[in-house]
Amino acid sequence: LRNETEIIERIWRALPTQAGGKAGGWLRLGVGDDAAVIRGFAGMKSGVGDCLLSTDAFLEGVHFLPEVHSPGDIGYKALARATSDLAAMGASPRFFLLGLAMPADRTGPWLDGFLKGVAQAAREFGMVLIGGDTSRFHSIVMNITVGGSADGNGVLTRAGAQPGDLIFVSGALGAAQLGLDLILHGPDGKSKTPRMPAGSQWKKLLRRHLRPKIQIGLGRWLAGQNPWARKIASAAIDTSDGLSADLNHICEASGVGARIWAARIPTVRIPKALRSRGVKLDSLELALHGGEDYQLLFAVPPKAASMLPQSIGGTRITEIGVIVPRSKALRKGSSRIELVGFDGTTVPLPSQGWDPFSTGKRARKKPNP
Ligand SMILES: [Mg+2]
Repeated sequence: LRNETEIIERIWRALPTQAGGKAGGWLRLGVGDDAAVIRGFAGMKSGVGDCLLSTDAFLEGVHFLPEVHSPGDIGYKALARATSDLAAMGASPRFFLLGLAMPADRTGPWLDGFLKGVAQAAREFGMVLIGGDTSRFHSIVMNITVGGSADGNGVLTRAGAQPGDLIFVSGALGAAQLGLDLILHGPDGKSKTPRMPAGSQWKKLLRRHLRPKIQIGLGRWLAGQNPWARKIASAAIDTSDGLSADLNHICEASGVGARIWAARIPTVRIPKALRSRGVKLDSLELALHGGEDYQLLFAVPPKAASMLPQSIGGTRITEIGVIVPRSKALRKGSSRIELVGFDGTTVPLPSQGWDPFSTGKRARKKPNP
């Protein structure tokens, strides 16, 4: 068992940090004091005027299972899922603070593997650790606060979608949920205990669940870092809870409704080996309600929609629907989204995504790693 100072020093050694005091730099003071000091971004070159902050809890048994998920995957995802919220606002990720509590027997190889995963994500996203806290606890509990910079006028929010705006989503939806299903129920759909499925054929399917690819570049592009230096999206969110839930968040914040077409939604392809296993795996269901894809869901005024390429940085962009006026018939708490089915009939789409406190039909009995 090592003491706290040793663990903190180990965290600093393993993760990128940045010495403060660099002339013109954004960071006045990094790790090592009671708090980090971030210079006012206003004096810096245009496009980085505001500092954005977001925080995320990541808990053993709720979000991940240390008997199933490798420490490296847990570390990578911990930072990725927190940083995805900055991507959704169009910000450039800069720094993070890590609050980490764990049992004594996790302070050895497990911690090394975990930090390796966090470091990989940090380098990928261009972030440095600027502070944190550690404690001993009977399970692994962490909280990550992330910060980034953006041009305040260009920041993408959930509010701002107008009737007539087109709705787009990046990537394929349901991919992360399919990977989770594979772990919870096994390739044959019969497993009662969560387990990492053996065999290299599952690797690709598990990838989106284990190491989600967050959309930092797309967010910045939509916020104004594009050839026209123009904000393209009127509203945006990252898909963390599932399309039905996240689109509802945009509708609520913008005071509008939405109509989406089932046939247009980019769904994850379910391989034959799983389709024949006898357990119902519906790619549309996965896409509508599966969580943790960390793609961007955004609205674009029709005039700006022609500026959107078919893909950005190798990520496909798909038009899935249109923002509509908020229906007067809608009762409080009812769905704001209409789903046009494959047969052309329109049904209200209830919000059924991930909610840690939900006890409804869709609430998962198993953890949602
Ligand atoms: Mg989010």
